[in-house]
Amino acid sequence: MLILDGKTAASSIRSRLKQEITNFLPVAGRPPGLAVILVGDDPASAVYVRNKEKSCLEVGIISQGQRLSGKTSMNELEGLISNLNSDEKIDGILLQLPLPQHLDSQQCLEWINPGKDVDGFHPQSVGKLTLGLPGFRSCTPAGIMALLRYYRLEVSGKDCVIIGRSNIVGKPLALMLLAENATVTVCHSRTSDLKAHVQRADFVFAAVGRPGFITADMVKPGAVVVDVGINRTEHGLVGDCDYQGIREKALAVTPVPGGVGPMTIAMLLENTVASWKNSVQSPG
Ligand code: NAD
Repeated sequence: MLILDGKTAASSIRSRLKQEITNFLPVAGRPPGLAVILVGDDPASAVYVRNKEKSCLEVGIISQGQRLSGKTSMNELEGLISNLNSDEKIDGILLQLPLPQHLDSQQCLEWINPGKDVDGFHPQSVGKLTLGLPGFRSCTPAGIMALLRYYRLEVSGKDCVIIGRSNIVGKPLALMLLAENATVTVCHSRTSDLKAHVQRADFVFAAVGRPGFITADMVKPGAVVVDVGINRTEHGLVGDCDYQGIREKALAVTPVPGGVGPMTIAMLLENTVASWKNSVQSPG
């Protein structure tokens, strides 16, 4: 059984990006810059933001943290995003979600200049993904695809079953798998007979947010199981899959933590470096 080690794969991507930044720095005349906006004091978001900033530092991206009070208004946020949109030293803008309830996340995401949309959540980025055009790809599904590539797991012609249809994981992942010629089924809370779908899958992608939701009896022997879930429990961080049971049956499985999570951050760095190179090669 193969453990799909996201830490190792992400580390190799970071080394490559570090080298790319060193090589391109003399041409660009400045390092890549990422603005990370955190509104309020959600502890999980604070951890994610710290990890992202640490990874930026490691590869040579300047991360500009923008910590805002939980009482920030839409007007204030629009002003900040507008300033960052026109800041020539900023190549990427990341708005950490979820935002406090009184703020309209979708509207805020749409204020971000699509050329700096390194999270890939702007409707223009989503449209480009849908049409198969080059553009920023949403980091978690892009990280999953990169992890499969790293381990040379080919999805073309395979039955891929995704559980979860969110805009940040399930839906974009479905489009990325389709682009790689997989046969894709997206299951969700209204799916009848989920087990029947999962049981015939060559690749299972669980993005539900419920510990132990996918059990070993649901998985076909020899399947590849990618666990996207991150659930905080009294036993620490766990995914959506019964890892111990599934590893007896599966061909390959991602651990939680150390699977999809580090790959998500690696893709954020990758998008930021790509944006930096773009802005230098085609300024304005
Ligand atoms: P979400 O809450 O937006 O969506 C959950 C999905 O699960 C929904 O589409 C819903 O239809 C589906 N669902 C709920 N109950 C179901 C059921 N009984 N049967 C089938 N489907 C059901 O979640 P999300 O934002 O996509 O995140 C999912 C999980 O992935 C969470 O644990 C989140 O923390 C984690 N996540 C991890 C990363 C990472 O980098 N590793 C990134 C994003 C999200």
